[in-house]
Amino acid sequence: MLSVDEAIAAVLSDVEPLREFETVELRSLAGRMTATDIIAQRTQPDFASSAMDGYAVRAADVTPTRALRLVGESAAGCRFHGKLCGGECVRIFTGAPIPDGADAVVIQEDVDRSGDAVRSLIHTMPGRHVRPRGNDFHLGDVLVPAGTRLGAASIALVASGGHPMVNVRRRPRVGILSTGDELVLPGRPVGPDQIVASNIYGIAVLAEQAGAQVFDLGLVGDRMDDLTRALDDALATRLDILVTIGGASVGDRDLIAPALRDRGVSLDFMKVAMRPGKPLMAGHTGETRVLGLPGNPASSLVTATLFLAPLIRAMHGEARGLQRQTGRLSQDLPANDHRTEFMRARLHASKDGWIVTPLPRQDSSLLSIFAQADALLVRPSNAEAAIAGDVCEFLPLA
Ligand code: AMP
Ligand code: MG
Repeated sequence: MLSVDEAIAAVLSDVEPLREFETVELRSLAGRMTATDIIAQRTQPDFASSAMDGYAVRAADVTPTRALRLVGESAAGCRFHGKLCGGECVRIFTGAPIPDGADAVVIQEDVDRSGDAVRSLIHTMPGRHVRPRGNDFHLGDVLVPAGTRLGAASIALVASGGHPMVNVRRRPRVGILSTGDELVLPGRPVGPDQIVASNIYGIAVLAEQAGAQVFDLGLVGDRMDDLTRALDDALATRLDILVTIGGASVGDRDLIAPALRDRGVSLDFMKVAMRPGKPLMAGHTGETRVLGLPGNPASSLVTATLFLAPLIRAMHGEARGLQRQTGRLSQDLPANDHRTEFMRARLHASKDGWIVTPLPRQDSSLLSIFAQADALLVRPSNAEAAIAGDVCEFLPLA
């Protein structure tokens, strides 16, 4: 049986970033990967502007004994059109253009004003509270390099740089097929012996957060001909990744492996030394990678976190793997067997770093426990018994 690290390496081996790109509008760019350098189409700001509310002045005019004459106003979006002469000032607001002739702003808290006579209580110097033209960026600057995952600030930056659309790598197409005779869709009547199919809703979120375009391929029962037909339909849709959920063990009703083989999928492995998630398979057919996730809810979420999300990120060209962090155990733990364990755990901040508390029940069917977890505590294979205060590793959950 492969170790977790060997299995992750096998899944990520020779994954190439997708080579197709598309133009996407600003509101849909979150998590997308830039195809090219994004170049500023404009200078920001394109005029020297005030950083504060106050009075635009000539710094050399300002002494605490001299009253300046107020000659106008410059507001954001509505500049003062005249030119400042000696002894004059202009009322100015944040973001408003600095009038010609002015070189500093005295903030409103630092003046004594009576009608049109404005006396600064302090000295100032040229450039004070002035944002020069191009303070943020200049026309032609590289705002965001190629191969950057776009987030809140970088998307706002490309908007500011004059781009309503950006060329980004297309998202990996991920199809998710749920299997099991006992499953019904949420909202449908649940008969005796049935449960609601829930895993796809968690896996889809993990996949989308990693940057995938997700297709729900629906439910299929535990019959060989239904499964092979569903796999044929799925593989006909040019998926980058096909995910199956359930039927991955070696019980008589676990038909995923034979069904996948029947449809030409070559399986690279069928088990991983981990808990939860031992019955995990990976393979490929043509351009499509296949992950067969186990059906138990915690198993499917843990394996999707460890294998599916990094595979999607690799198709975006992101090499960075999962980042384990360190903390300290809040309690003793028994020795571990040969399977790496990913315990659902809670994190608490302390002055010495993270304190990690495994949740009390680790049964892989328990979503109620998983939903309380903010980390997966990693217990290495064959780890010795640990005591409270020992250093441990964990994977934060988003
Ligand atoms: P399996 O991997 O098919 O043997 O399923 C293991 C356990 O997970 C069984 O209790 C299934 O009922 C449950 N299960 C399988 N698929 C799902 C699903 N999509 N949503 C929720 N539970 C599931
Ligand atoms: Mg099943």
